[in-house]
Amino acid sequence: MKAVVYRGPRQVAVEERPDPTIQHPSDAIVRITTTNICGSDLHMYEGRTSVEEGKVLGHENMGIVEAVGAALTRVKVGDRVSVPFNIACGTCRNCISGWTSFCLRTNPTEGMDGAAYGYANMGPYDGGQAEFLRVPYADFNLLDLPAGQEHENDFTMLSDIFPTGWHGTELARMQPGDRVVVYGAGPVGLMAAHSAMIKGASQVYVVDKERDRLDLAGKIGATPVDFSKGDPVEQLMDATDGHGADCGVEAVGYQAHDPSGEEHPELVLDNLIKSVRSSGGIGVVGVYVPEDPGARDEAAKQGRIGFDYGTFFAKGQHMGTGQAPVMRYNRHLRDLIIAGRAQPSFLVSHELPLAEAVEGYDRFDKREAGWTKVLLRP
Ligand code: NAD
Ligand code: ZN
Ligand code: ZN
Repeated sequence: MKAVVYRGPRQVAVEERPDPTIQHPSDAIVRITTTNICGSDLHMYEGRTSVEEGKVLGHENMGIVEAVGAALTRVKVGDRVSVPFNIACGTCRNCISGWTSFCLRTNPTEGMDGAAYGYANMGPYDGGQAEFLRVPYADFNLLDLPAGQEHENDFTMLSDIFPTGWHGTELARMQPGDRVVVYGAGPVGLMAAHSAMIKGASQVYVVDKERDRLDLAGKIGATPVDFSKGDPVEQLMDATDGHGADCGVEAVGYQAHDPSGEEHPELVLDNLIKSVRSSGGIGVVGVYVPEDPGARDEAAKQGRIGFDYGTFFAKGQHMGTGQAPVMRYNRHLRDLIIAGRAQPSFLVSHELPLAEAVEGYDRFDKREAGWTKVLLRP
């Protein structure tokens, strides 16, 4: 089969690979119909992780079940499915309590709970930017979708970024009527804004500097805040008569930049703490990793970034963090799509054949205008 393989910093290649096979009776093989490039793939692409060369990338996958292991009773050949990016066993303590993103069984990496497809430090699993994908514990992990091709570009957001955006609002303990601020108008931030709107926010403010992304925020009814035009906290305070937001979502991660373009990972957390009212919540879904070989200084390389803990404490805020447990939300979000109450496909800017993945990575990585979300069709 053809697959997108990591070959070194800013180098991916579309290569021939052996088709995956059933390795365990609870595996399934999925023929991929759509697989997306994610901002998280850029952490590896930019050489900021220890991902090994030769890894097949891709954790945002959907498709048709091609083969099933002997132990499967629910999933059948021919089913149309969404594959959550988390690989979870379904029976460990964390999985049972709904935290499949911290499965205790599927990631053999020392000190890391939770596994994913095609990702650094998240276990030995190849990704789905390929024609086929092996899915462990398939009866537990796969989400069934209505047969056919309808809503393909909406459903493809169910494997990661729609649940992740939703999770940001959950971690922030958002309530209907809240004013919500989202930092980052990338795909994840826009999904958090979309989620907040669906959950009944009174106002959603989205902070970024990329014009095309801010325009998309405006299109879904949020208020864009351009941080290249002045301090985003001041702009937010002006817009809210000095009250600030009730809660906020961090959807930038350790590639945060200041207006001059300098890397500044603590900036967004500090701005969120200032932007959110006292006793309010902050949901951090932007990724900060314990090891970042590409970071600007030694402390940051260890994953240590400072933020204004004093103000955070003085304001009595709460913060939730981490990888999203996709299965907690994906059934509900699928049904909102089917009911016409959610349209996450508004993000999609490009649909490319797998063979054009190299260009897709390059242009998405440069955040070229209009390259918001790239789907690959193997
Ligand atoms: P992205 O890189 O496309 O988007 C990030 C956006 O943040 C960009 O538009 C950028 O211009 C903007 N930005 C940079 N500095 C900023 C600042 N100082 N203030 C405001 N905005 C700023 O990435 P994405 O795909 O949207 O993902 C965002 C983050 O979410 C990444 O760190 C990604 O790894 C992470 N993520 C987390 C999970 C999870 O489960 N927690 C899942 C998927 C992605
Ligand atoms: Zn992703
Ligand atoms: Zn588990």
